[in-house]
Amino acid sequence: MKRIALLVLLVVFFTMPLVPHTVPAQGFGLQEGDDIGLVLPGEARVAEAAEAENAPSPGSALVLAAPGRVDVGQPFLVRLTSDQPLGSVSVFWLGKEVVPSISVWNGRHVALIMLGTDVLNAKPGEEELSVIASIDGKENTFRRTIQVIPGEYERQELTLPKKMVTPPTDVYARIKAEGEQTTAAKNTVSPQRMWRLPFERPVTGDISSLYGMQRILNGKPKNPHRGLDFRSPMGNPIKCAADGEVILVGDHYYAGNSVYVDHGNGVVSMYFHLSKPIVKEGDRVQRGQAIGFSGMSGRATGPHLHFSVSVLGRLVDPGPLLNKTVDEMLE
Ligand SMILES: [Zn+2]
Repeated sequence: MKRIALLVLLVVFFTMPLVPHTVPAQGFGLQEGDDIGLVLPGEARVAEAAEAENAPSPGSALVLAAPGRVDVGQPFLVRLTSDQPLGSVSVFWLGKEVVPSISVWNGRHVALIMLGTDVLNAKPGEEELSVIASIDGKENTFRRTIQVIPGEYERQELTLPKKMVTPPTDVYARIKAEGEQTTAAKNTVSPQRMWRLPFERPVTGDISSLYGMQRILNGKPKNPHRGLDFRSPMGNPIKCAADGEVILVGDHYYAGNSVYVDHGNGVVSMYFHLSKPIVKEGDRVQRGQAIGFSGMSGRATGPHLHFSVSVLGRLVDPGPLLNKTVDEMLE
């Protein structure tokens, strides 16, 4: 009995010092919703410890965390933290504006914004990020130069039935109309941030095709692959990556049965080639909730899930969002 007690004590002793190092990695990414004034009791002690470690200097009441360089196609996070209430925040990136929701966490006012570039059209070079934050009616402007560096993506050659690569002329009007509808859905910027990281993996299968892959279809170069393909037999449940609202459910020429979910502040996730969607437009959905079943509708050579994430209308690599916490993304 005594030996067991000693063992327990030893285990507690050796694991205790690890706690402040492992937990904040989850914590400062804010596990909360967007309710003003929300404090998570379990996180409070840990946050205090973290604050004591990096005590803010007198001039750092308003802190912007943003990366200095990003790879083409990769999503990234920008976080503005203030000791004083933030009246409003506007973030400008590649000609788009987002007004992020503001959370209060342990007395700090935090705006967390997801941004990114699209492998289809991003140009390597310098881009300007600007953030305007008002405190007590006074505007504070941050300007940061972000280096967009070329990403390394693979090539893939595929042979598909000719009619799937070059659609017959009688479907042009349909494809154009669907393009307008899906472009509008991808550019949705709603005021309440509902996403948190990491995203839920939408289906259990392995990844068969990565984001960014340059596709050569029947010998002709096509647009790069702007999502992740997961192997999945017919009828597997497809789970929503994050909390949100269903904004589009359609049966599209290329994507087949598709579901688009708005996660707020410019982040939209998409699920293609479903055998059957089980949600409808306007439904509120939760992270992990089944929204349909996998299939091979639309342009697909076999059953799989194509999963994409749009950030302010740009399709980014969903990979890091499935694997990383907010803190890991900000590192
Ligand atoms: Zn795909």
